[in-house]
Amino acid sequence: MQTRAAILWEPHTDWSVEDIELDPPKRGEVLVKLAASGLCHSDEHMVTGDMALPPEIAELMGISQFPVIGGHEGAGIVQEVGEGVTDLAVGDHVVFSFIPSCGKCPSCRKGQSQVCDLGAFLLGGRQFTDQTARHHTKDGKDLGTMVALGTFSPYTVVAVESCVKIDDDIPLEKAALVGCGVTTGWGSAVNAADVQPGETVVIYGVGGIGTAAVQGAALAGANQIVVVEPVEWKREKILEFGATHTAASQEEAFFLVQQLTNGAMADKAILCVGTAKGEHVGQMMSMIKKCGRAVVTSVAPMLDDQVTMNLFEFAMQRKELVGCIFGNANPAVDIPKLLALYKSGKLKLDEMITTEYTLDEINQGYQDMRDGKNFRGLIRY
Ligand SMILES: [Zn+2]
Ligand SMILES: [Zn+2]
Repeated sequence: MQTRAAILWEPHTDWSVEDIELDPPKRGEVLVKLAASGLCHSDEHMVTGDMALPPEIAELMGISQFPVIGGHEGAGIVQEVGEGVTDLAVGDHVVFSFIPSCGKCPSCRKGQSQVCDLGAFLLGGRQFTDQTARHHTKDGKDLGTMVALGTFSPYTVVAVESCVKIDDDIPLEKAALVGCGVTTGWGSAVNAADVQPGETVVIYGVGGIGTAAVQGAALAGANQIVVVEPVEWKREKILEFGATHTAASQEEAFFLVQQLTNGAMADKAILCVGTAKGEHVGQMMSMIKKCGRAVVTSVAPMLDDQVTMNLFEFAMQRKELVGCIFGNANPAVDIPKLLALYKSGKLKLDEMITTEYTLDEINQGYQDMRDGKNFRGLIRY
């Protein structure tokens, strides 16, 4: 079939919205008509090159990352199922999980499907089954898809392992956010940081992920939630999501947390800024108390390997530093759980969507993200 998609031909260029050809689903795959796609920062990391492999390394790995159809935060309705698909049927409502779960690999079997072995195929953006493409340009060139999804298109073909079936009565354009940002942020607080009732939690950066992390920390019973965020309107608005205090900078936050905790400092700190840098780790480690925990959720440039922090304090004060992917969540269980929280009014999704765009407005959407204008931007189809 013919459809349209926003394609990134190479890093440091704009998204190009073009007509494309989409093949029918093959074995283990489904064709999905999307309702919406969130504009997550990870696609921006493809644009800036943070998440692009150097061409010589990509070639060594046999991966061609570009051109790629972006987008990995989507939800829609199954239109057609490929051979052998028994878990999903035409008409089912699904959220895409940006990390697939096969249910069979050692990680999935240990209940750690956020690191499912199928993740090894995500950078190449081809179908898991046979490593070929279902998406092509008008003149027949194969297109990759961001994490084998490609939600910057009103239609896409994906593997069943990337789909989580949800109830029909949940608005799909809200559910889309749970496919990445909400689960990532919520899980950063609830799973990775393991926030406990009464704790003081510091959250750095409130875009889509940070906004969900604040809500996760609040739901887990944190007493004080301090948001560090340079954009003024976000500092005001985030109080409606459960933040109790805000600061514009690390320095301001440090003295505030010192004051709030009688000098003991925070129990937990979570990094949700647009791009992680080595210096952020030292800042977070100085913000937490003895036996406190710092969580790195933000994506850093792939080849960065420099981190500074005080190693004496790290050991002598028994501090913990924890990595986090997809909120260390289990999508098949946690996506329906979060949508149930949304249905009962305990998780705010509507309020997270600051601006809606058409597919053709995608570059404006990302410019608005760079300018700090959105918690989350959303493409509506
Ligand atoms: Zn994302
Ligand atoms: Zn697996």
